[in-house]
Amino acid sequence: MKAIQAIRGMKDIPPAETPVWRRLEDTARDVLAGYGYHELRPPIVEKTELFRRSVGEATDIVEKEMYTFADRNGENLSLRPECTASCVRAAIEHGWLRGRGQRLWHIGPMFRYEKPQKGRYRQFHQLDVEALGFPGPDVDAELILLSARLWRRLGLEGLRLELNCLGSREIQQSYRDQLVDYLSAHVKDLDDDSQRRLGSNPLRILDSKNPDLRHILEAAPRIVDCLDDDSRAHFEQLQAMLDASDITFLVNPRLVRGLDYYTGTVFEWITDDLGAQGAVCGGGRYDGLVEEIGGTPAPATGFAVGLERIVALMQSGENVPAPLAPHAYLLAVGVEAQRAAHTLAEQLRDVLPGLCLLVDAGPGKFKRKMKTADRSGAKLALILGEDEIRQQRITLKDMRGDGGQVSVARSEIAEKLQASIDFND
Ligand code: ATP
Ligand code: MG
Repeated sequence: MKAIQAIRGMKDIPPAETPVWRRLEDTARDVLAGYGYHELRPPIVEKTELFRRSVGEATDIVEKEMYTFADRNGENLSLRPECTASCVRAAIEHGWLRGRGQRLWHIGPMFRYEKPQKGRYRQFHQLDVEALGFPGPDVDAELILLSARLWRRLGLEGLRLELNCLGSREIQQSYRDQLVDYLSAHVKDLDDDSQRRLGSNPLRILDSKNPDLRHILEAAPRIVDCLDDDSRAHFEQLQAMLDASDITFLVNPRLVRGLDYYTGTVFEWITDDLGAQGAVCGGGRYDGLVEEIGGTPAPATGFAVGLERIVALMQSGENVPAPLAPHAYLLAVGVEAQRAAHTLAEQLRDVLPGLCLLVDAGPGKFKRKMKTADRSGAKLALILGEDEIRQQRITLKDMRGDGGQVSVARSEIAEKLQASIDFND
């Protein structure tokens, strides 16, 4: 029968890789706790309407990348393509924004029907961090400092920060008109994608990776030149705060982001070490979104980290965590010894809580079992045979050092293990 395979663009994270993921997730949790952010776990499926209203009808994500389906009751649902909309929906639904701010985070899978390639998948994972209810540039700066601390804690170097300010919805509207006028004059030189976007989402043309468009886009009107006094002051204060914290950044007037809800500050962290998929984190301010989803107007800002891309960077560095080898491997030969093995293992786990003890399973000869013990990477083997059962003893074999073995009374084995194992290793 033909074997069933995973869905294209959705990959297994194998046991050899999960230690890197755990290190990333544990470090993120730790850093977030240091800034007072709380974990939220929203559902993976939401009403499609939520993403239409937030991410935007004319974005690639909503137009062609969502996994959308009708449930058995005919309700139009989607697997989430991102998580900001869910965080905002939850905060409104539970009344968390009444008179106070909320600092939230979530780690989980997102789904986009994109062309799978290195660093781009159909199921991928994000760390999502959102600060809801805070208007000032200080919180934008906090988010950027938090992300910079995460990179430092993970030992990642060479990430560049790019910033831009998109201004209010009104500013975006008038800028959009200027941009459309300018690009319409060059319409013959635009590629198909950009020509299509000219009518639907012209700001996204600025983000085009097509080198043929570079000279046209470089001479295009810049949104930073259209900002009102408030937006300009906000952006300048943010830059001053980053300067004061020694965060290096580049203002990129063409940075626009692919979701419609952004207003004001936008930013991206970029690496040159991952080829075309260089954006590892993107975010910004979305002051209109709470109201668009049906809440009382409230400012908000946040970012999302692409975890597959961060894992790839971690794997290319030194000190990549490997799956833990067991401290000890317990092998039993003979029916009676096999029966006794699990009782012994349970007793040892009771008194040595940090112990990683692998118990040999199934029938087999002693020699074969020793080979399995060796392959497990265990530092010690505990051998339980008929003689040992009779004498109430256990043979303890050093698997990594000189291979020597000693006979230990059963009543002393826990103490002996305690002395021979480094539980922090
Ligand atoms: P990109 O420009 O790479 O398509 P994006 O602007 O669509 O990214 P966001 O929606 O802002 O990305 O998501 C934040 C981060 O999530 C990105 O910076 C990236 O690291 C990661 N990401 C986005 N889409 C994917 C994907 N399909 N596979 C893996 N990671 C992704
Ligand atoms: Mg994208």
